[in-house]
Amino acid sequence: MADPAECTIKVMCRFRPLNSSEVTRGDRYIPKFQGEETVVIAGKPYMFDRVFQSNTTQEQVYNACAQKIVKDVLEGYNGTIFAYGQTSSGKTHTMEGNLHDTDSMGIIPRIVQDIFNYIYSMDENLEFHIKVSRAVSKTNLSVHEDKNRVPYVKGCTERFVCSPEEVMDTIDEGKSNRHVAVTNMNEHSSRSHSIFLINVKQENTQTEQKLSGKLYLVDLAGSEKVSKTGAEGAVLDEAKNINKSLSSLGNVISALAEGTAYIPYRDSKMTRILQDSLGGNCRTTIVICCSPSSFNEAETKSTLMFGQRAK
Ligand code: ADP
Ligand code: MG
Repeated sequence: MADPAECTIKVMCRFRPLNSSEVTRGDRYIPKFQGEETVVIAGKPYMFDRVFQSNTTQEQVYNACAQKIVKDVLEGYNGTIFAYGQTSSGKTHTMEGNLHDTDSMGIIPRIVQDIFNYIYSMDENLEFHIKVSRAVSKTNLSVHEDKNRVPYVKGCTERFVCSPEEVMDTIDEGKSNRHVAVTNMNEHSSRSHSIFLINVKQENTQTEQKLSGKLYLVDLAGSEKVSKTGAEGAVLDEAKNINKSLSSLGNVISALAEGTAYIPYRDSKMTRILQDSLGGNCRTTIVICCSPSSFNEAETKSTLMFGQRAK
């Protein structure tokens, strides 16, 4: 059994390699790594539960960030894995990667495989119901409450699945709906959060014992400062909303990490949705994603500071 008293918030930090446009521009590679837990930027050390250097494989990241949570969810715990960082820092690569390639697939497809392998390995007295749903916030998530005041996301698609392939299909369909706004950043800036939920219900048909666990997998909107993106009008309003929801998330997670009595879940829609999977005996992992380029030094420092607050 998982130990309910153990530390439930883990903060990991991943640096991607320099990309070709950064190399062409002559950017410097700025992180210096010390052991497995410390990265130094401009002489200042930042400590995490684990720091992944640029050459870390998708499998290594999965083993350190997700394997244990999946085990716990199958034992009836709730959990959340977040990817946080500026646009183009490797969040989607970390969470999804290449969904259909064994080496480069990210955390989500690996989780799905692990869950189904577990199911296939169990005896037939155990009946499983796997439900996945996906919500993408355009400006902000539309959260409603049912009559028991349990929050739910309006308009999110929900479906029961019987195989890993069916889950991948759901993700592929969802991707084509994801909102991308073009800004002055090098790449497109994804100004939306993407939340993927895997619900696992199991029942022993002989003993009638039931277990239920859910796992939220969250690819957060880019954390870059509004000024850097050069956004205007509606896009600017949207960016401000996103920055606000990210700081609310930071407040909730640091309150949980400090063990404060009052946790400000209701300050943002996203934290309301995730409330029953954050805190308590829930499992939370945050993967802080960073660019190693000197060009992004200020954003990288602010990303690392966000991660430090959660510890
Ligand atoms: P984000 O979702 O944070 O905006 P992406 O995950 O889309 O960023 O990554 C931006 C680009 O960098 C993509 O082309 C991605 O494949 C590449 N990339 C990100 N992380 C890595 C990594 N660890 N190793 C190799 N390429 C990476
Ligand atoms: Mg992305």
